[in-house]
Amino acid sequence: MRNYTEKSDDSPEKVNILLVDDREENLIALAALLDKPQYELYTATSGLEALRYVLSVDFAVILLDVQMPGMNGFETASLIKSREKSTHVPILFVTAISQASENVKQGYAVGAIDYLFKPFHPETLTLKIEAIVRMHQYQEQIKLQNELLRIIGDTSNDTIITMDKLGTVITVNRASKPMFDYNPEQLIGKPINKLVPELYERLTEEDAGNSIIETNAVRRGGHRFPVDIQVGEAKVDNRHIFVCSVRDVTERKALEEERFRRIFDAAPSLICVRSLKDRSYLNVNDSFLQTTGYSSEEVLHNPGYELQYMIEEDHLHSINEMMGNNAPVRNIKISYMTKTGELREGLMSTERIQLHGEYCLLTVITDITKQLFLEKEMVRLDRLNLTGKMAAGIVHEIRNPMTTVRGFLQLSKNYSSEYTNIMIEELDRAHNIVSEFLSVATAHTTNRKLHQLNSVIETLYPLIHSKALCSNHSIQLDLSPCPALHLDEKEIRQLLLNLTLNGLEAMPSGGELSIKTYSEHDLIVMEIRDQGTGMREEVLEKLGTPFFSTKINGTGLGLSVCYGIAARHDAEIKVTSSEQGTTFSIQFKQRQLSI
Ligand code: ADP
Ligand code: MG
Repeated sequence: MRNYTEKSDDSPEKVNILLVDDREENLIALAALLDKPQYELYTATSGLEALRYVLSVDFAVILLDVQMPGMNGFETASLIKSREKSTHVPILFVTAISQASENVKQGYAVGAIDYLFKPFHPETLTLKIEAIVRMHQYQEQIKLQNELLRIIGDTSNDTIITMDKLGTVITVNRASKPMFDYNPEQLIGKPINKLVPELYERLTEEDAGNSIIETNAVRRGGHRFPVDIQVGEAKVDNRHIFVCSVRDVTERKALEEERFRRIFDAAPSLICVRSLKDRSYLNVNDSFLQTTGYSSEEVLHNPGYELQYMIEEDHLHSINEMMGNNAPVRNIKISYMTKTGELREGLMSTERIQLHGEYCLLTVITDITKQLFLEKEMVRLDRLNLTGKMAAGIVHEIRNPMTTVRGFLQLSKNYSSEYTNIMIEELDRAHNIVSEFLSVATAHTTNRKLHQLNSVIETLYPLIHSKALCSNHSIQLDLSPCPALHLDEKEIRQLLLNLTLNGLEAMPSGGELSIKTYSEHDLIVMEIRDQGTGMREEVLEKLGTPFFSTKINGTGLGLSVCYGIAARHDAEIKVTSSEQGTTFSIQFKQRQLSI
C-alpha cells in the first residue's frame, strides 16, 4: 500500500488503484482483498486527498465511498470527471446495500460505471476489479496505438491513405494537403482514382502485396506528378483494407532524368530511342547527330528518317528472330551510312525498354571505324618494319653483283667491251633492287594537307601506348595548341613512330617517354625525349646514315627515313643526348603556312 507521499515510478507494469473511504478500517479491509502483486494500491481518507492523487497518478480504477464527511463521493466523482486528465478513469462507488436504491441513480449520473455493495462478496469484488483493470489496459493500449498512428501520419511527408476494396478512401493523413491540395475531410468517402487515376486498376490486376507501384498522381487543378506507392493489404473482420503510402518522387525523377541525360549525351556511342509503335525516333544523343551528320530536326519524330545500316547476311536471320521475340541483341557488327554517304563500321546492341509507359527500342552503336583503321595501320607499319629488316638481306644481295662487276672491271682492262655490257646489266640489277626497296620502305608521297600536328600524335597514340606497355614503359603527352601545318600525315606518323620506337628501345624497363609540342617564335616543335643511356659522340656523328645501327637486330634505316621526311617538310631534326637520355626535336617552320 502507498500513501500520498510515496509515489512510485519504478514499476510501470503495475496498475494503480485508488481506494477512497473516510474510515480507516474499511480501507484496510478493501486493501486486504485486493492485495495482489500486479496492483499498486493507493488509499485516501477524504475526497480532497483523492483529488490530489488523481492529479499526479494515472489510475486504472477508483473505488469511491459515497458517504464521507466534507466532500462526499458524488461531489468527488464530479470533480474527478471534470478534469481532462482523469475524465476516463472508471469509478466504482462503494455503498451499503441499504442505501443502494437512493444512491445508484445519482452515482451513474456523475459517471460511475458500477457499484460495490457492502458487505463485500470477496470473489465478486476481485473479479469485477480484474475485469475493469483489463478493460482499462486495453483502452490505454488502443489510446497509445492511435496516438502513435496519428503522430506517424502527421509527421510523414508521404500521403497515407487507407481505402476499402472498392477503392473508396477511408482515412487519409494531413500530408494530403501539401501533396494534393485537399484537406483529409475532402477526400474521405471519395474514390482513390480522384488522386491516383491508375492505382485501383493496378491494385486489382497486379499482385500489389508488397510491391512498389510507380505511377502518376493528380493534384487539385489537374497537375500530374510521378509517385511511388507502397501498398499493404489488411483483412479486418472480413473487410479488405488497402493501406497506400504515396510518395511524391518529382525531384528524384528529375535528378535521375538529368543524370541519364548527361550520360546519354556524353556517351561516345551513338544512342537512339525509337517508338515501337511507328518506329519514329524519340530521342538521339549528341554522338548520334555528330557521327551521322544529321540535325535533330531531321531525325526526331520524322517518319521519313531511318538510319541506314547493313548487317552481315549470316547474322540477319538470327537478329530478326531475336528482335521479333523482344530479346536483347548485343554487339552485332554493322556498317552504317552517314548523311554524306560515308560507310562507317559499328557494333550495335538493341533492347526493348519502357519509357513513360510506352514500349520503345533502345539502340546503342559503338563506332569502331577508327579502331579498324588503326588495326590495319598497325599491320601496315609492321610490314614496313619487316621491309626494313629485309634491307640487311638486300644489301648482302647487292654485294654479289658488285663483286662480279669488280672482277670484270679488272678484266676489261685487257679484253673487249662485251664484258662492259655484262657490267652494265649487273649494275642495273643492283640499281633495281635498291630502288624497289626504297619504294616500299619510304612512303615518299607529296600528299601534304593542312593538319594539326597534335591530332596526328593523338591518332597514333594508342599504337605507341600499346608498344610502350609491351616493354613496360610509359608515355607522357604534353601537347600545346599549335597552328595547323602542311603535313603528309602518313609520313609524320612514320617519323613519330620511328623516333618513339628508338626512344623506347633505348630505355631500361620502367622508363618514361615524353612527347611534347609547342610553338616558339616562328617554329612549331615536336619533341621526343627518352630516359635512355644516351649516345656516344661517334654514334651521334653517324645518325641518319642508312644501315647504321648499334643494335643486334637493327636495320639502321629508321633515322635515315626520318631525316628524309623532315627534309621533305622543310623541317630540321635537332638531337641532344646525355647519360640521362636523348631528345629529338623536329622543328617545323610556321611560315610554311603561307604555302
Ligand atoms: P635502328 O633502330 O634500327 O638501329 P635507327 O636509324 O633507328 O636504326 O637508329 C640508328 C642508331 O642510332 C641506333 O642503332 C642507335 O644506336 C642510335 N639511336 C637512335 N635513337 C636513339 C635513342 N633515342 N637513344 C640512343 N640511341 C639512339
Ligand atoms: Mg630504329
